[in-house]
Order: sequence, then structure tokens, then C-alpha cells
Amino acid sequence: MGIKNVTLLGTGVLGAQIAFQTAYCGFNVTSYDIDDEKISMARQTMEGIGQAYLKDLPDATPQKIAETVARIGFATDLGEAVKHADLVIEAIPEILDLKNKVYAELGKVAPAKTIFATNSSTLLPSDMAAATGRPKQFLALHFANYIWLHNTAEIMGHPDTDPAVFSEIVNFAKDIGMVPIEVKKEQPGYVLNSLLVPFLRAAADLLINDVASVEDIDRTWKIATGSPAGPFEVYDAVGLNTAYNISKHGDEGSRKFADYIKENYIDKGKMGVASGEGFYKY
Ligand code: NAD
Repeated sequence: MGIKNVTLLGTGVLGAQIAFQTAYCGFNVTSYDIDDEKISMARQTMEGIGQAYLKDLPDATPQKIAETVARIGFATDLGEAVKHADLVIEAIPEILDLKNKVYAELGKVAPAKTIFATNSSTLLPSDMAAATGRPKQFLALHFANYIWLHNTAEIMGHPDTDPAVFSEIVNFAKDIGMVPIEVKKEQPGYVLNSLLVPFLRAAADLLINDVASVEDIDRTWKIATGSPAGPFEVYDAVGLNTAYNISKHGDEGSRKFADYIKENYIDKGKMGVASGEGFYKY
């Protein structure tokens, strides 16, 4: 079939990045959001993303960025947004009822050929497959934040995803400069978060149980494995607010860690790399 026209649902943090990267790699992109205010915010966000490409990517030039922007259209009408779409990538808020409501509408207005992919971080494709009305053409395509630098794309179907659709999306991921990671069965957290979440949790337990200091835990990991960053450097990069929000809903050990980072860091304005200080100074 061949993918040429891609529509993004949601122009937030990830939606804007995916739209920009897809257009940067030559595809026609339509970015859809709920109202004009969101669209004008998206235009500003994408201007910032263009600046970041110029700074971060050796092959980016002002002309290439201008051509990228010219390939992105905007829409607030769902039917208009998807009428030529070969692929719709959904990056709307992580609320299952909302996603299912949007998929039900989308299923009615999108052409029969259109493939749907969700960028959901924590939901499984099978949670939403029925609502799409076309489960065979539905799967997850999960990007990481700052996709032009952290260019993994995890592709994960549900039991009824058509293998040909899966392969097509693997190829599409390559075509937009991603390293495709084929997740062979449904797995909460895909590959990355299945590794990262227990790793970060183990580091938190070592700290909270007073087994070793932040510096020694990171140092051990880095020296003994050759890894460039230790777990607390990763926490700082993710942002301590996000770490707090996740940990406060966990078990007793997780909640202790949440209280610890709130009292010692967040309440003092130390939010991680973004604020200039977290476990470390930047
Ligand atoms: P965000 O809150 O920054 O953006 C969500 C966007 O969706 C907003 O622009 C909002 O106006 C729009 N929206 C709300 N309702 C809508 C609707 N009915 N139709 C269309 N658009 C609608 O969220 P985000 O961080 O970009 O996350 C979006 C998805 O991507 C989530 O599923 C999340 O799990 C996933 N994700 C996020 C990250 C991350 O680091 N932020 C990384 C990977 C995956």
C-alpha cells in the first residue's frame, strides 16, 4: 500500500515531535487537535522543535526546517484531518475512556485502508482494539521523548493485529529515522520501561533503606557496567515530579521514596535537569 500521508491526533509534547520528525523525513503530515488555541500552541512548539533540530542534528539546515514546516497542515475537524490518511498516529492524553471515544469516532470517519497506531505509554493495544472497529489495522507505535535524539520506536501489536500491518509499521519507523524495536507480544511498558522501571525502583530501595548513597549507587553502576549514566542521573533526566507522581501510587517502599524526594528535592525546587538541580547540579 505504501504510507505517504500521516495524521497525528494530539499536538502535545509527543504529538508535536512525531509530526515534526515525520514531516522532516518527507511525509505529508496533518496535525489534529481539539481547538484553534491548541493549534496555535502547536505551531509555537514546532518552531521550538525546529530550533532544537538545528542545534542537535548535523544534517539540519534552515531550508530543511522550512520544508518540514511546509509539509505540516493543521486541522480541528477529525473527518478533514484523516480523509487522506494512510496512517493515523494517536498521541492524545493517557485516559482510556477518552482514547476509546476518539477511536470510535475515528473508525467511522477514516478511510477503510487507514492504519491506526497508538503512542500510549501504559495502555495495551487490546484495551482499545475493539473501539477502533478495525482491530487488524491497529497496533502501538511508541516513541520516546525527544524523538530526534532518542530514536527508538517500539512496535507492539495485539493478538489480532495483521502481521502485514506490523511489518509495514516497522518499515515506516525506519523511514522516519527511528530504530524499530519489535515487541513480539503485548507487554505493559514495552521493552524500555520493562527494563527501566524495576531498575530505577531497585536504586530507590537501596537509597531509602540506607544501603548506599546516591553517588555510590550511580558510581557502582557506571564503573562496573560501563554505562554512561547511573539510576539517579536517569531520575534527574526524567524529572523528579514525574518520579514522584508515579511512586506515590505504588507500594509502601515506593511511597517512602515519593515522600523522600518530595521533602528533600521537590519542595526545595530541585526538580532534576530541567530546573538545574535534582540529585545533582547541572
Ligand atoms: P500532552 O498532554 O502533552 O498532549 C496531549 C494532546 O492531546 C493535547 O494537545 C490535547 O489538546 C490533545 N487532545 C486532548 N483531547 C483530544 C482529543 N479528543 N482529540 C485530539 N486531541 C486531543 O500528552 P503527551 O505527553 O504528548 O502524551 C500523549 C500520549 O503519548 C500519551 O498516550 C502518552 O502516554 C504518550 N507518550 C508520552 C511520552 C512523554 O514523554 N510525554 C512519551 C511516550 C509516549
